[in-house]
Amino acid sequence: MSLLPAMLTIQAIKTRYNGYKFLSRLEAHWAVFFDTLGIKYHPELEGYALKYTGSQNVVCYLPDFWIPEMQSYFEIKPALGNSLNESMPTPQECEKVIRLCIGTQKSVCILVGDVWPGAYRIIEYSPLSPEKIKRLMETINWVDSIKKKDSNNYAFGQWLTPNRYFYMPDDGSSFMYADFNRGFECSLAWFFICGICKKVLMYGNNGLYAIHEHDSTRIDYIPISAYETARSYRFERWR
Ligand SMILES: [Zn+2]
Repeated sequence: MSLLPAMLTIQAIKTRYNGYKFLSRLEAHWAVFFDTLGIKYHPELEGYALKYTGSQNVVCYLPDFWIPEMQSYFEIKPALGNSLNESMPTPQECEKVIRLCIGTQKSVCILVGDVWPGAYRIIEYSPLSPEKIKRLMETINWVDSIKKKDSNNYAFGQWLTPNRYFYMPDDGSSFMYADFNRGFECSLAWFFICGICKKVLMYGNNGLYAIHEHDSTRIDYIPISAYETARSYRFERWR
């Protein structure tokens, strides 16, 4: 007889919704949220074997959602820490996402937390296009000019190396990190509605970047009813 206690295994509850099988209930709740807002999504569209040129190290990765109108992959993660800050993805998880972003030249987002305002955050990795580099450089000049003017600056920006820049507003509510060498930018975002075209967009708290081409500065909140519908949805069990 084994003296070891019985092994306890835990598994996310697989869930059936809208003809799809989701590997976790949290993923299915986010799918309801997207449906409620009329956002088309493809669950687990394509798996990728990610590999650096000249390296034998292959990482397999199947992102949870592809959302065509945002041209973005989404990876859903539960907030398992005491706070969202304690639930940040591991460096290994981030590295997979960075490789997919650089390899596909698409935005890849880690969506951490529950379907509720303030209970989630989006860590968005996006490839650096020439337009984006131009905009980032304007941001960096802006932050640097604040720092020169005022020693009690309300924004923090620093070149970590000649190719990596980090920026954070004083209230710590957001951040932006750019790696010009590898060709990606990382920032925090949330779902909002564009005040101009009324489409759902991802928008950062610092307001320094926008996804839409008309560079919207007007944003509206997602109606609370969309969150309520998604959070209270009752699924059938996947058998
Ligand atoms: Zn718009």
